[in-house]
Amino acid sequence: MADHTGGSDMAPSPTTVIVGAGFAGIEAAEALGRAGHAFILIDQRNYHLFQPLLYQVATSTLQPAEIAAPVRALVSRYPQARVILDRVVNIDPARRVVETEARSFAYDRLILATGARTSYFGDDALAEHSFALKSLDDALHLRHQILMAFERAEMAEDEDTRKALMSFVLVGAGPNGVGAAVAIRELASRTLARDFNAIDPRQARILILEAADTILPGLAPEFIEEAAAILENKGVEIRTGAKVSAIDADGVTVDGERIAAGTTIWTAGVEVPDLADWLDAEADKKGRIKVCDDLTVPGRPEIHVVGDAALVMDGDGKPLPGLAAVAKQEGRHAAAAVITARDGGPHGGGSHRPFRYADYGHMVPLGRFSAVAEIKGRRLKGLPAWVVWAAAHIFFLMDWRRRLVVAFTWLWSLATSRTGSRIIINRQGVELPAPTRKAERGGTTDPDAEA
Ligand SMILES: Cc1cc2nc3c(=O)[nH]c(=O)nc-3n(C[C@H](O)[C@H](O)[C@H](O)COP(=O)(O)OP(=O)(O)OC[C@H]3O[C@@H](n4cnc5c(N)ncnc54)[C@H](O)[C@@H]3O)c2cc1C
Repeated sequence: MADHTGGSDMAPSPTTVIVGAGFAGIEAAEALGRAGHAFILIDQRNYHLFQPLLYQVATSTLQPAEIAAPVRALVSRYPQARVILDRVVNIDPARRVVETEARSFAYDRLILATGARTSYFGDDALAEHSFALKSLDDALHLRHQILMAFERAEMAEDEDTRKALMSFVLVGAGPNGVGAAVAIRELASRTLARDFNAIDPRQARILILEAADTILPGLAPEFIEEAAAILENKGVEIRTGAKVSAIDADGVTVDGERIAAGTTIWTAGVEVPDLADWLDAEADKKGRIKVCDDLTVPGRPEIHVVGDAALVMDGDGKPLPGLAAVAKQEGRHAAAAVITARDGGPHGGGSHRPFRYADYGHMVPLGRFSAVAEIKGRRLKGLPAWVVWAAAHIFFLMDWRRRLVVAFTWLWSLATSRTGSRIIINRQGVELPAPTRKAERGGTTDPDAEA
């Protein structure tokens, strides 16, 4: 690997490097940019992804480009910003160098915001026969799978095959699994119901399996009860205390019972790869780095870890959840520390202020005009909760074009019960004879593909 550490074409010293252009990384970059601070922003993808709306791409409501924006465009207003499209493969904290596949970058301050990836708890077989929902690739593959499942059900010659093809199992009842389950229910019952004649998509079975004894673990019991009632009312089955032991191409095994299902979606866990090894730092069993209260790595005051990659405790000693709001506030906090250090001397000037998360509440979308929300201690459900959820998500989208397009798309699909992007293509635009499974995947997705 060529070593260009400290090369003359790099940003002027002191150099701040941010790894990851997700919620935490972009927030840090924006804060540094506004303060006139030079930085290098490295990401393996050329786009920032709004993950909370991934399930809407997977269920044909939104297009990829509506929830993804080029990183360059997001920071182009800051002349001192430098964007690098490359994958970080190592960090050498002793030499203060970040190594990417192509070259190396020296840093004075490092903000690591690399997020998390789907975890299968070390069981590769679970990964092989299930669909994840963490990246744009995942969402497009899942969309393909869902639409193809109904196409194949239309052609099925026996009832058992038809039923299995129209059965969708979601493993994990966190907000992602719950949101995706309702979205598939509504795609089947509202949109696809009018598209097919030989089958009735309203008969599709949507089943959530959760190993814990509750859905939406961590949320208030009343909140959970309301969400469960809405899910059941919409025809989403829930089984808690249900541990999935095996997944294959035709279904799942749960507590010794076999459930036939053509599509299994895995949203049961995440993990943080590599960082603990690279930094030689302590991590929890999910790989999240145990940071100090100012979000720096113990013994490395020049390195911040933020967002899903960091294990940060709240005032009650419980880990903060993996949420966009947490990531954004942490990214902003790390950037403020960097700016303070610049203005007040290296790592000085009060730059090690403890991080405090300002919790404004949480929301779980539950389909058409429905959600549950808790905002500053006030609980909402149904339409009012959905309005708050929709407004928040539109507000937090990257730019006005996307805000307007998404708002219009939602209004249109709510008014007509139709979703727009039910076109079945693979990434090369070639029609596939049968659904691809995870084992057959590869390559990267173009977020601008208007499929
Ligand atoms: C389906 C889904 C729904 C969700 N819904 C909600 C919701 O409703 N509300 C909510 O608050 N949160 C939600 N979340 C969680 C939220 O999206 C995350 O908490 C948030 O994205 C974390 O931000 P981050 O910046 O830490 O990581 P990410 O946003 O994941 O960004 C990490 C970035 O780092 C880059 N990266 C990783 N490794 C490398 C490397 N080695 N080299 C270079 N670049 C690298 C990645 O490409 C990525 O761009 C949802 C998540 C998912 C998956």
